Amino acid sequence: MRSLRSHIPNTKPFSQISTYCHARRFVSTMAPTLPPDRRPLVISGPSGVGKGTLMGRLFESHPDTFTLSVSHTTRAPRPGEAHGVDYFYVQKAEFEDLIAADRFVEHAQFGSNCYGTSKATIEEQTSKGKVVVLDIEMEGVKQIRKSSIDARFVFVKPPSFEALEQRLRGRGTEDESSVTKRLDQAKKELEYADIPGVHDIIIVNDNLDAAYKELEDYVYRSIV
Ligand code: ADP
Ligand code: 5GP
Repeated sequence: MRSLRSHIPNTKPFSQISTYCHARRFVSTMAPTLPPDRRPLVISGPSGVGKGTLMGRLFESHPDTFTLSVSHTTRAPRPGEAHGVDYFYVQKAEFEDLIAADRFVEHAQFGSNCYGTSKATIEEQTSKGKVVVLDIEMEGVKQIRKSSIDARFVFVKPPSFEALEQRLRGRGTEDESSVTKRLDQAKKELEYADIPGVHDIIIVNDNLDAAYKELEDYVYRSIV
């Protein structure tokens, strides 16, 4: 299958692009301007909740405004994913070298793989005047919160654990062992998100349109 990604800069993996393309039928009520608050946007939530789908809509609706912080990972690319677009795919040894060289603003192990956000990525994109969007898991959120980066924190929550499992399985990207690890991790992520003040907003992604509107409204709201 021809990759759709060539038409779509700054998006998440192929599996998410399908949803994203499907979502193109929706018309956004976007504002064509930069949001008043241009701090990096950290989006977290359990695997399969719809982070990539929501981010894909944000990138498509506002292509000149937001940009994905492309992370490094030791996981293998999924079909359709591309190096430098979805992730920088590296071997474990290279990842460890990057840690040793203090190149990450945060990094964590998730399932059997490592993921990290390089300082250079955030700096480069911010210097271009873009609002950088980070899609990271809980340990990364904790590290960003402790760092000097002043960010906004969005947590995306599923309407139920059953719905989450259905979405994760329905995406068809994970083998059984990975599904189990991701669902175990999801429980921890959901517990963490229950701690008051950890996130600036919690969006329940039940109806996709409603969840997207909530995200867009939040992102574009006036500085309070
Ligand atoms: P994440 O990036 O959080 O891992 P994805 O964006 O890949 O999650 O979404 C996981 C699956 O759930 C995809 O197949 C996507 O199409 C589907 N999905 C996303 N949002 C919704 C929703 N509101 N209702 C039903 N399915 C959804
Ligand atoms: P996936 O393998 O589905 O692409 O991502 C698995 C998890 O890793 C997701 O929860 C995603 O948010 C998280 N993730 C992706 N990139 C990073 C990163 O740079 N740092 C951290 N901490 N988590 C990441």
